[in-house]
Amino acid sequence: MNFHVLTLFPEMVAQGVSTSITGRALKEKKISLETVNIRDFSKDKHNRVDDYTYGGGAGMLMQAEPVYEAYEHVADKIPQNSNKRVIYVTPQGKTFNQNMAKDFAKSDDIIILCGHYEGIDERVLEEVVTDYVSIGDYVLTGGELAAMVMIDAISRLVPGVLHNDVSAETESFHGKLLEYPQYSRPEVWHGKSVPDVLLSGNTKEINKWRIQESVNRTKQRRPDLYREYEALQKCKDDMMKKKLHHIDMIELINRGRAELVFSNDREYLLKDTETTVYMHTNLNDTKPRAFDELFDDEDCGIECVVLHQAECVPVVEERLGLKLQTECRNAVYTQREKLSVSGLYRADGKTDERGLTIRVLKDSDKEDAGKLHEWPNDLEYCYDRIDAGSMFGAFIHDKLAAVIGIHGEGSIGMLYVDEKYRKQKLGMALETYAFNWALEKGWIPYGQIVLDNDKSFNLQEKMGLYCSKESVYWME
Ligand code: SAM
Repeated sequence: MNFHVLTLFPEMVAQGVSTSITGRALKEKKISLETVNIRDFSKDKHNRVDDYTYGGGAGMLMQAEPVYEAYEHVADKIPQNSNKRVIYVTPQGKTFNQNMAKDFAKSDDIIILCGHYEGIDERVLEEVVTDYVSIGDYVLTGGELAAMVMIDAISRLVPGVLHNDVSAETESFHGKLLEYPQYSRPEVWHGKSVPDVLLSGNTKEINKWRIQESVNRTKQRRPDLYREYEALQKCKDDMMKKKLHHIDMIELINRGRAELVFSNDREYLLKDTETTVYMHTNLNDTKPRAFDELFDDEDCGIECVVLHQAECVPVVEERLGLKLQTECRNAVYTQREKLSVSGLYRADGKTDERGLTIRVLKDSDKEDAGKLHEWPNDLEYCYDRIDAGSMFGAFIHDKLAAVIGIHGEGSIGMLYVDEKYRKQKLGMALETYAFNWALEKGWIPYGQIVLDNDKSFNLQEKMGLYCSKESVYWME
């Protein structure tokens, strides 16, 4: 992730970002920061970049040309295929929040333009800006603090920056709840004791207590968020009545990634906040309404939706212009206990007597992984999943023999065993590894099997998974 900040005060941003966790991320090259002084592009002999506003009024305005040249200086160096955003920080923008941070964290390059004085000449903004973002309903003297706030919030979502991915998954706003109260030593302070349950060592009870405290706290402090949480819980309760068929939607909610875009009694449309995938189900006896009510034309921005009823397929074809890509069935591992690894691989991560090791794939494995799988869709996707830390490989004597991964929206798939290494239970070993990895995160592991893939259905059954009798339809 490369940040480029166009500003009149580059040292302010550079100093702010170079301390603490973002500073460490810079040193470890998990993120990079380029600060560009807009004043360096002034043509004025006193290096001025501001002038009076046409039509009168108080204050000065930053001129278009130096801003444009500073922008071009940065943009010219960014590769054409980079996933780039150009953000103008302004009190007139959309208010920054955690979902926006997640969305920006998917970019390769982020250019942040900081205004000063009364702001910036509108014409240059029209030419370069892709997003207008505010950090709150108040007016700052300049955009630098806003840029630093955004860089901080986005950076900590870049894989590897936090060194402990779990913390981003338990803190406030994840799953619409604020974080639970936390305590450190001493056990008693000013006569107040740490709640007993936290000293009990009983993880199950501790988690239960934390969820309840999160719910209470959200209800009390952020009733707006709590309403969203409640709506998602109702959706989840309805879907639990057909758990196997709706495990993809249930897990989207469980993993704190669901945005409820539409609901009407028991019809729901969820958006995955980390990908562009939408998921829809209609448990009412009436026709679906989501696609009629929300979207008047094909230009609604939905590029992929997973449907749970066949009768919605023609509706989505007609309303959104999407085509049916695959019909799948969900296969779910419904137990909470980890699968046994005996006879498959060594649980301690060491190499077994066959020379087999299983581990998470790294950047340096990309070339081998790319050659191994037939990657019918695109290789970029495989690389993307490796970057996300969601691909696992089975190595025999250090040679990559098989891979499996977790798709962007959460299902386990992409299993591929090199022909030379088949009939050695590597598929089963990798599935077991991926399922146990997901269970450790508190997820319900599931996969989606293309309808005619009998081999895969057999493997899932052997592993103790339950398959849904009803299909899901991927429309793209
Ligand atoms: N005249 C502008 C208006 O009313 O929209 C405000 C200009 S402000 C004094 C100067 C600069 O500070 C802005 O161009 C913007 O870059 C930055 N800024 C001020 N408040 C901000 C906020 N709440 N969020 C993000 N940036 C802000």
